[in-house]
Amino acid sequence: MTAQLIDGTALSKSIRADIAARAAELTAKGHRPGLAVILVGDDPASAVYVKNKVKACAEAGLHSVLEKYDASLSEADLISRIEALNADASIHGILVQMPLPRHIRAQPVIETISTAKDVDGYSVQSAGDLMCGLPGFLPCTPFGCMKLIETTGIDLRGKHAVVIGRSNTVGKPMALLLLQANATVTVCHSATPDLKAHTLQADVVVAAVGRRNVLTADMVKPGAVVIDVGMNRDEAGKLCGDVDFDGVKPVAGWITPVPGGVGPMTIAMLLFNTLASAERAAAR
Ligand code: NAP
Repeated sequence: MTAQLIDGTALSKSIRADIAARAAELTAKGHRPGLAVILVGDDPASAVYVKNKVKACAEAGLHSVLEKYDASLSEADLISRIEALNADASIHGILVQMPLPRHIRAQPVIETISTAKDVDGYSVQSAGDLMCGLPGFLPCTPFGCMKLIETTGIDLRGKHAVVIGRSNTVGKPMALLLLQANATVTVCHSATPDLKAHTLQADVVVAAVGRRNVLTADMVKPGAVVIDVGMNRDEAGKLCGDVDFDGVKPVAGWITPVPGGVGPMTIAMLLFNTLASAERAAAR
């Protein structure tokens, strides 16, 4: 068996085309969706991420504002800036690129973002909404992973899903979304003694660790769906995921590549959340 590729690039393109059409309708009614992206400091990877987000907004016809600040910006000044964006009716989503410089605490910054504009879904309120099954913004990466799994046509009800990683932004919300879809969910992390014992039972594995080759062929149940969230570099500096793609591909039923899997979906779902926020604002 060779796994079918789950093409995140193609899926994200079709989602973005749909977003562009809906954004054009909204813009014609005088409610152009708008996203504010804040970058503090000069982390090169963060600079690339925000550039891609702003570019994606432009391609989908969304208004975007990129605010870049020196790494010396104070937490209080950053919070004041977010408060101003909360009050700005042309902005429907606010994203603060992580990581922030060490002197700025991430949580108070995130909590300043109005829940109505928390398109990253990182606030305690958004996390609580997800946990309780209430409407709210879903964190973009796990949301994108669910869309990728949907394309396989597999009904998650009663399936065993294993999530490797338990971060607040990826692993935990991923587990909650799989649970909402009626999967039986196991969450593994750095203190899990025998990862393989869990992954071998999984119909769906989501790897969100940030370490190469966390999942190898001997750890995968034949036919499983494998979603690779990881973003790492190999010895040659090439982008790669957490999964040994070449080894796992002959065993799995479906697999996402890196690049071209989860990454493009994260951006697509950010646009989706921003559009949804603008649609809600327009309906008020
Ligand atoms: P994170 O906050 O560092 O969390 C990593 C998780 O992996 C932690 O829960 C950690 O466990 C667990 N872990 C570490 N070593 C492990 C091991 N040997 N076995 C099992 N679990 C282990 O990272 P993150 O923010 O969730 O991101 C994970 C990866 O996804 C990174 O490569 C990141 O770059 C990538 N990412 C990609 C996208 C995208 O759009 N493609 C978006 C977000 C993140 P403990 O909790 O016990 O420490």
